Amino acid sequence: MEFRKMTACRAAEAVNNGETTACQLIKEILERCNVLNGKLNTFIKIAGPEALEQAAAVDKQVKSGQKLPLAGVPVAVKDDLCCRDLPTSFGSPAFKNFISPYGAAAVEKLTDAGAVVIGKTNLDDMGIGSTTTSSPAGPALNPWAPDRVAGSAGAAAVAAAQCLIFLESDSGGALRQGASHCGVIGLRPTMGRVSRYGLHTFASSFGQIGITASSTDDILAALEVISGFDARDASTALYREKSAEKNAAVEPEIIKIGYPTAIIALLAPDHRNLMERAREDIEASGFQLTDFKLDLLAEALRAYYIIAFAETSSNLSRFDGIRFGMADYAENLDELYYKSRRLTFGQEASRRSIFGTFILSQGNYDRYYRQALKIWTLVRREFTAVLDQCDLLLMPAVRTLPQLVTEQIDFCRLYEEDLFCAPVSLAGLPSLCLPVGEVDQLPVGLQLVGRPFSEEMLIGAASRIIPEIKFPPNVIC
Ligand code: GLN
Repeated sequence: MEFRKMTACRAAEAVNNGETTACQLIKEILERCNVLNGKLNTFIKIAGPEALEQAAAVDKQVKSGQKLPLAGVPVAVKDDLCCRDLPTSFGSPAFKNFISPYGAAAVEKLTDAGAVVIGKTNLDDMGIGSTTTSSPAGPALNPWAPDRVAGSAGAAAVAAAQCLIFLESDSGGALRQGASHCGVIGLRPTMGRVSRYGLHTFASSFGQIGITASSTDDILAALEVISGFDARDASTALYREKSAEKNAAVEPEIIKIGYPTAIIALLAPDHRNLMERAREDIEASGFQLTDFKLDLLAEALRAYYIIAFAETSSNLSRFDGIRFGMADYAENLDELYYKSRRLTFGQEASRRSIFGTFILSQGNYDRYYRQALKIWTLVRREFTAVLDQCDLLLMPAVRTLPQLVTEQIDFCRLYEEDLFCAPVSLAGLPSLCLPVGEVDQLPVGLQLVGRPFSEEMLIGAASRIIPEIKFPPNVIC
């Protein structure tokens, strides 16, 4: 099988038609995955026997006459999503061998639709970050330039055709920035569209589950499977799927896309040129373009970090070695906390726990946290007002190229990378990152942002804009 040319939809069709079997497909991709993992460090765990067992069950269902929408499709899952039969580390050495008693709703919906989980991917310390440089397993490397980070290990796995669909979390931009850095497509759905049951998120207000793939059809197919109300996640929306509208073809002539001229001016020249070229291509595809402004972008980024820090300190407090996490021998309670947290958290998780506790402490709560909440409301209003005038917004996804693996970047500078993604998370809007070109022979993507629950329009518009997806030339297997 030539996985680089195969979409998930085509793979499922081949399995459903009997052109191949799920077992054959999974066997071949596992071989590819193992060989490439030595070069890219994208997977923490490759699920050999477990995946083959799942594939055999899919073949049995297909043989009995069932048609499964994702029959035999190899799926990778970020390691902050629980899987019933595979370890889930959350990016912590303390959870290296932890097997969750339940699986994440989105993962189980995919496997019920015939997909096969082939492994868990690398991630930052407790899932916090967008580079994987703080991962206990070391960074995942970019298949376009292995001296650089991938941003998202799973986006690299999709680009290297180690899997056909990747399920991952995105809080302030990890999924979208990874898709941009690796030249693939990443969708962060509206908050509430996909159940987060079984996701470990450091920032509950922003953490969402999204999909990365190399074709818009695959993104749509996976979204249809994983979206919908879930009684186990009170934050899922009682949203009724509008099937007639859902599959309606997108007519570019009637779609107005906002273009942020003032924001584009903030970019480095190469990235700016790329955005301007993308604008011309989008206009040539027939879409109407109109200018828009967002005045609160910088404030939104600061508010995101204050709220995310506060939520991290609260969400991570349960990892105390008593309720959750690994306990070390200790003489007293303080020592137990101290030692257990050191076994569980790396530097970034510790930093956020400490700053978050500070932000939520008496006096600072009003000074920082309450102010950030006010800004959050203003940001939502600003996006709503802009989206009253436009159907979709075009925004950069990244400010720079992915960092060199050897580069030591100050944590505040890393936070600044989220200038374009974190505000969209704050607004709770759906966003799709699509590749639009290259800078220094590395892919760069941009975001299309839509109104709540407009994922189908985003996917439809992206399918009109995306040039043919390119795969990294150096990944030979
Ligand atoms: N870089 C952002 C943060 O560290 C977002 C990370 C993410 O989306 N997982 O908060």
